[in-house]
Amino acid sequence: MITASPTSRLSSPVTGWRELWRDAITDAGELLEAVGLAYRTDLLPPDDAGFPLRVPRGFAARMRRGDPADPLLLQVLPRRAEHAVVEGFTVDAVGDMASRAGHGVLHKYDGRALLIASGSCAVNCRYCFRRHFPYGEEIAAAAQWREALAHVKADPSIRELILSGGDPLSLATHKLEELTRGLADMPHVIRLRIHTRLPVVLPERIDEAFTEWLAALPLQKVVVLHANHANEFDASVDAACARLRAAGATLLNQSVLLKEVNDDADTLVALCERSFAAGVLPYYLHQLDKVAGAAHFEVSDEHALELMEVLRGRLPGYLVPKLVRELQGDPSKRPVAEFAR
Ligand SMILES: *Cc1c(COP(=O)(O)O)cnc(C)c1O
Ligand code: SF4
Repeated sequence: MITASPTSRLSSPVTGWRELWRDAITDAGELLEAVGLAYRTDLLPPDDAGFPLRVPRGFAARMRRGDPADPLLLQVLPRRAEHAVVEGFTVDAVGDMASRAGHGVLHKYDGRALLIASGSCAVNCRYCFRRHFPYGEEIAAAAQWREALAHVKADPSIRELILSGGDPLSLATHKLEELTRGLADMPHVIRLRIHTRLPVVLPERIDEAFTEWLAALPLQKVVVLHANHANEFDASVDAACARLRAAGATLLNQSVLLKEVNDDADTLVALCERSFAAGVLPYYLHQLDKVAGAAHFEVSDEHALELMEVLRGRLPGYLVPKLVRELQGDPSKRPVAEFAR
């Protein structure tokens, strides 16, 4: 039983998603205390970095108490290892800026335009490229989505609009409505895809107003979640997934292969089976984007390929994710096997 003290709460006195968002833990000492751990010396000083610790209390409550190697904790805890300068790890690891097609619009792959809908996330994941992205100027939602909508309208080859970020579900539902109203005169767009970590880290975001908006859209709907470990799922996540499916969305999960978080076969098998129990099919297993500050999470291609072989042996084919890496200038995400062997 976790006792709530004013400084180490793992539950919130509020229930609306906006309040829960604001009520996140932002202090490493508080997080450690909340999960029953002593302060540790391998942490970054709190005033460091432009990428502070941030984790919703409900997500922290899924961390194992007293386990300094907890796989959820390691994803969010700012450690000194982030300061290591490692060759090949840079600030624009996937060449995003090269495929910029307007304010907050990335048009890199055929048929799909990706909108950087928002720069905000409820959680700050230490391995994420977002820590270096110049979101200040790059939000598609600015000015009523004008540049994004103009780009999509002018290019009938765009069949699918992808909302990414940051987390697009950080936007208010009325802001999303504004976008989809703008799509009404673009019949070439037949699919809306949303990449979001919120159904996992702040499932309360999938509220009634949101699911009503989603259900009413005259588009095919795909929601790609982002969970890296089976322990990220609990009853509240299951319920959010059920609401999304009831609104007509196909649910997929993408994960990042992360050292000490999910780089063993049992953990990955458990993740794929647990996500399917929530109605979510595994989609991609990403090799880490080589962003400065994340090198300590890197898993070698050789080990990644060994893991994939075990997954193929132990899981039904439909529960095996595709192991991919994103490389600058590629026409698609690239299967890792093709260049490693
Ligand atoms: C990953 C990505 C997509 C989507 O790729 P899929 O392989 O269809 O999931 C689209 N645009 C950009 C810029 C991307 O990075
Ligand atoms: S974009 Fe996704 S992975 Fe990156 S910090 Fe936000 S939620 Fe985490």
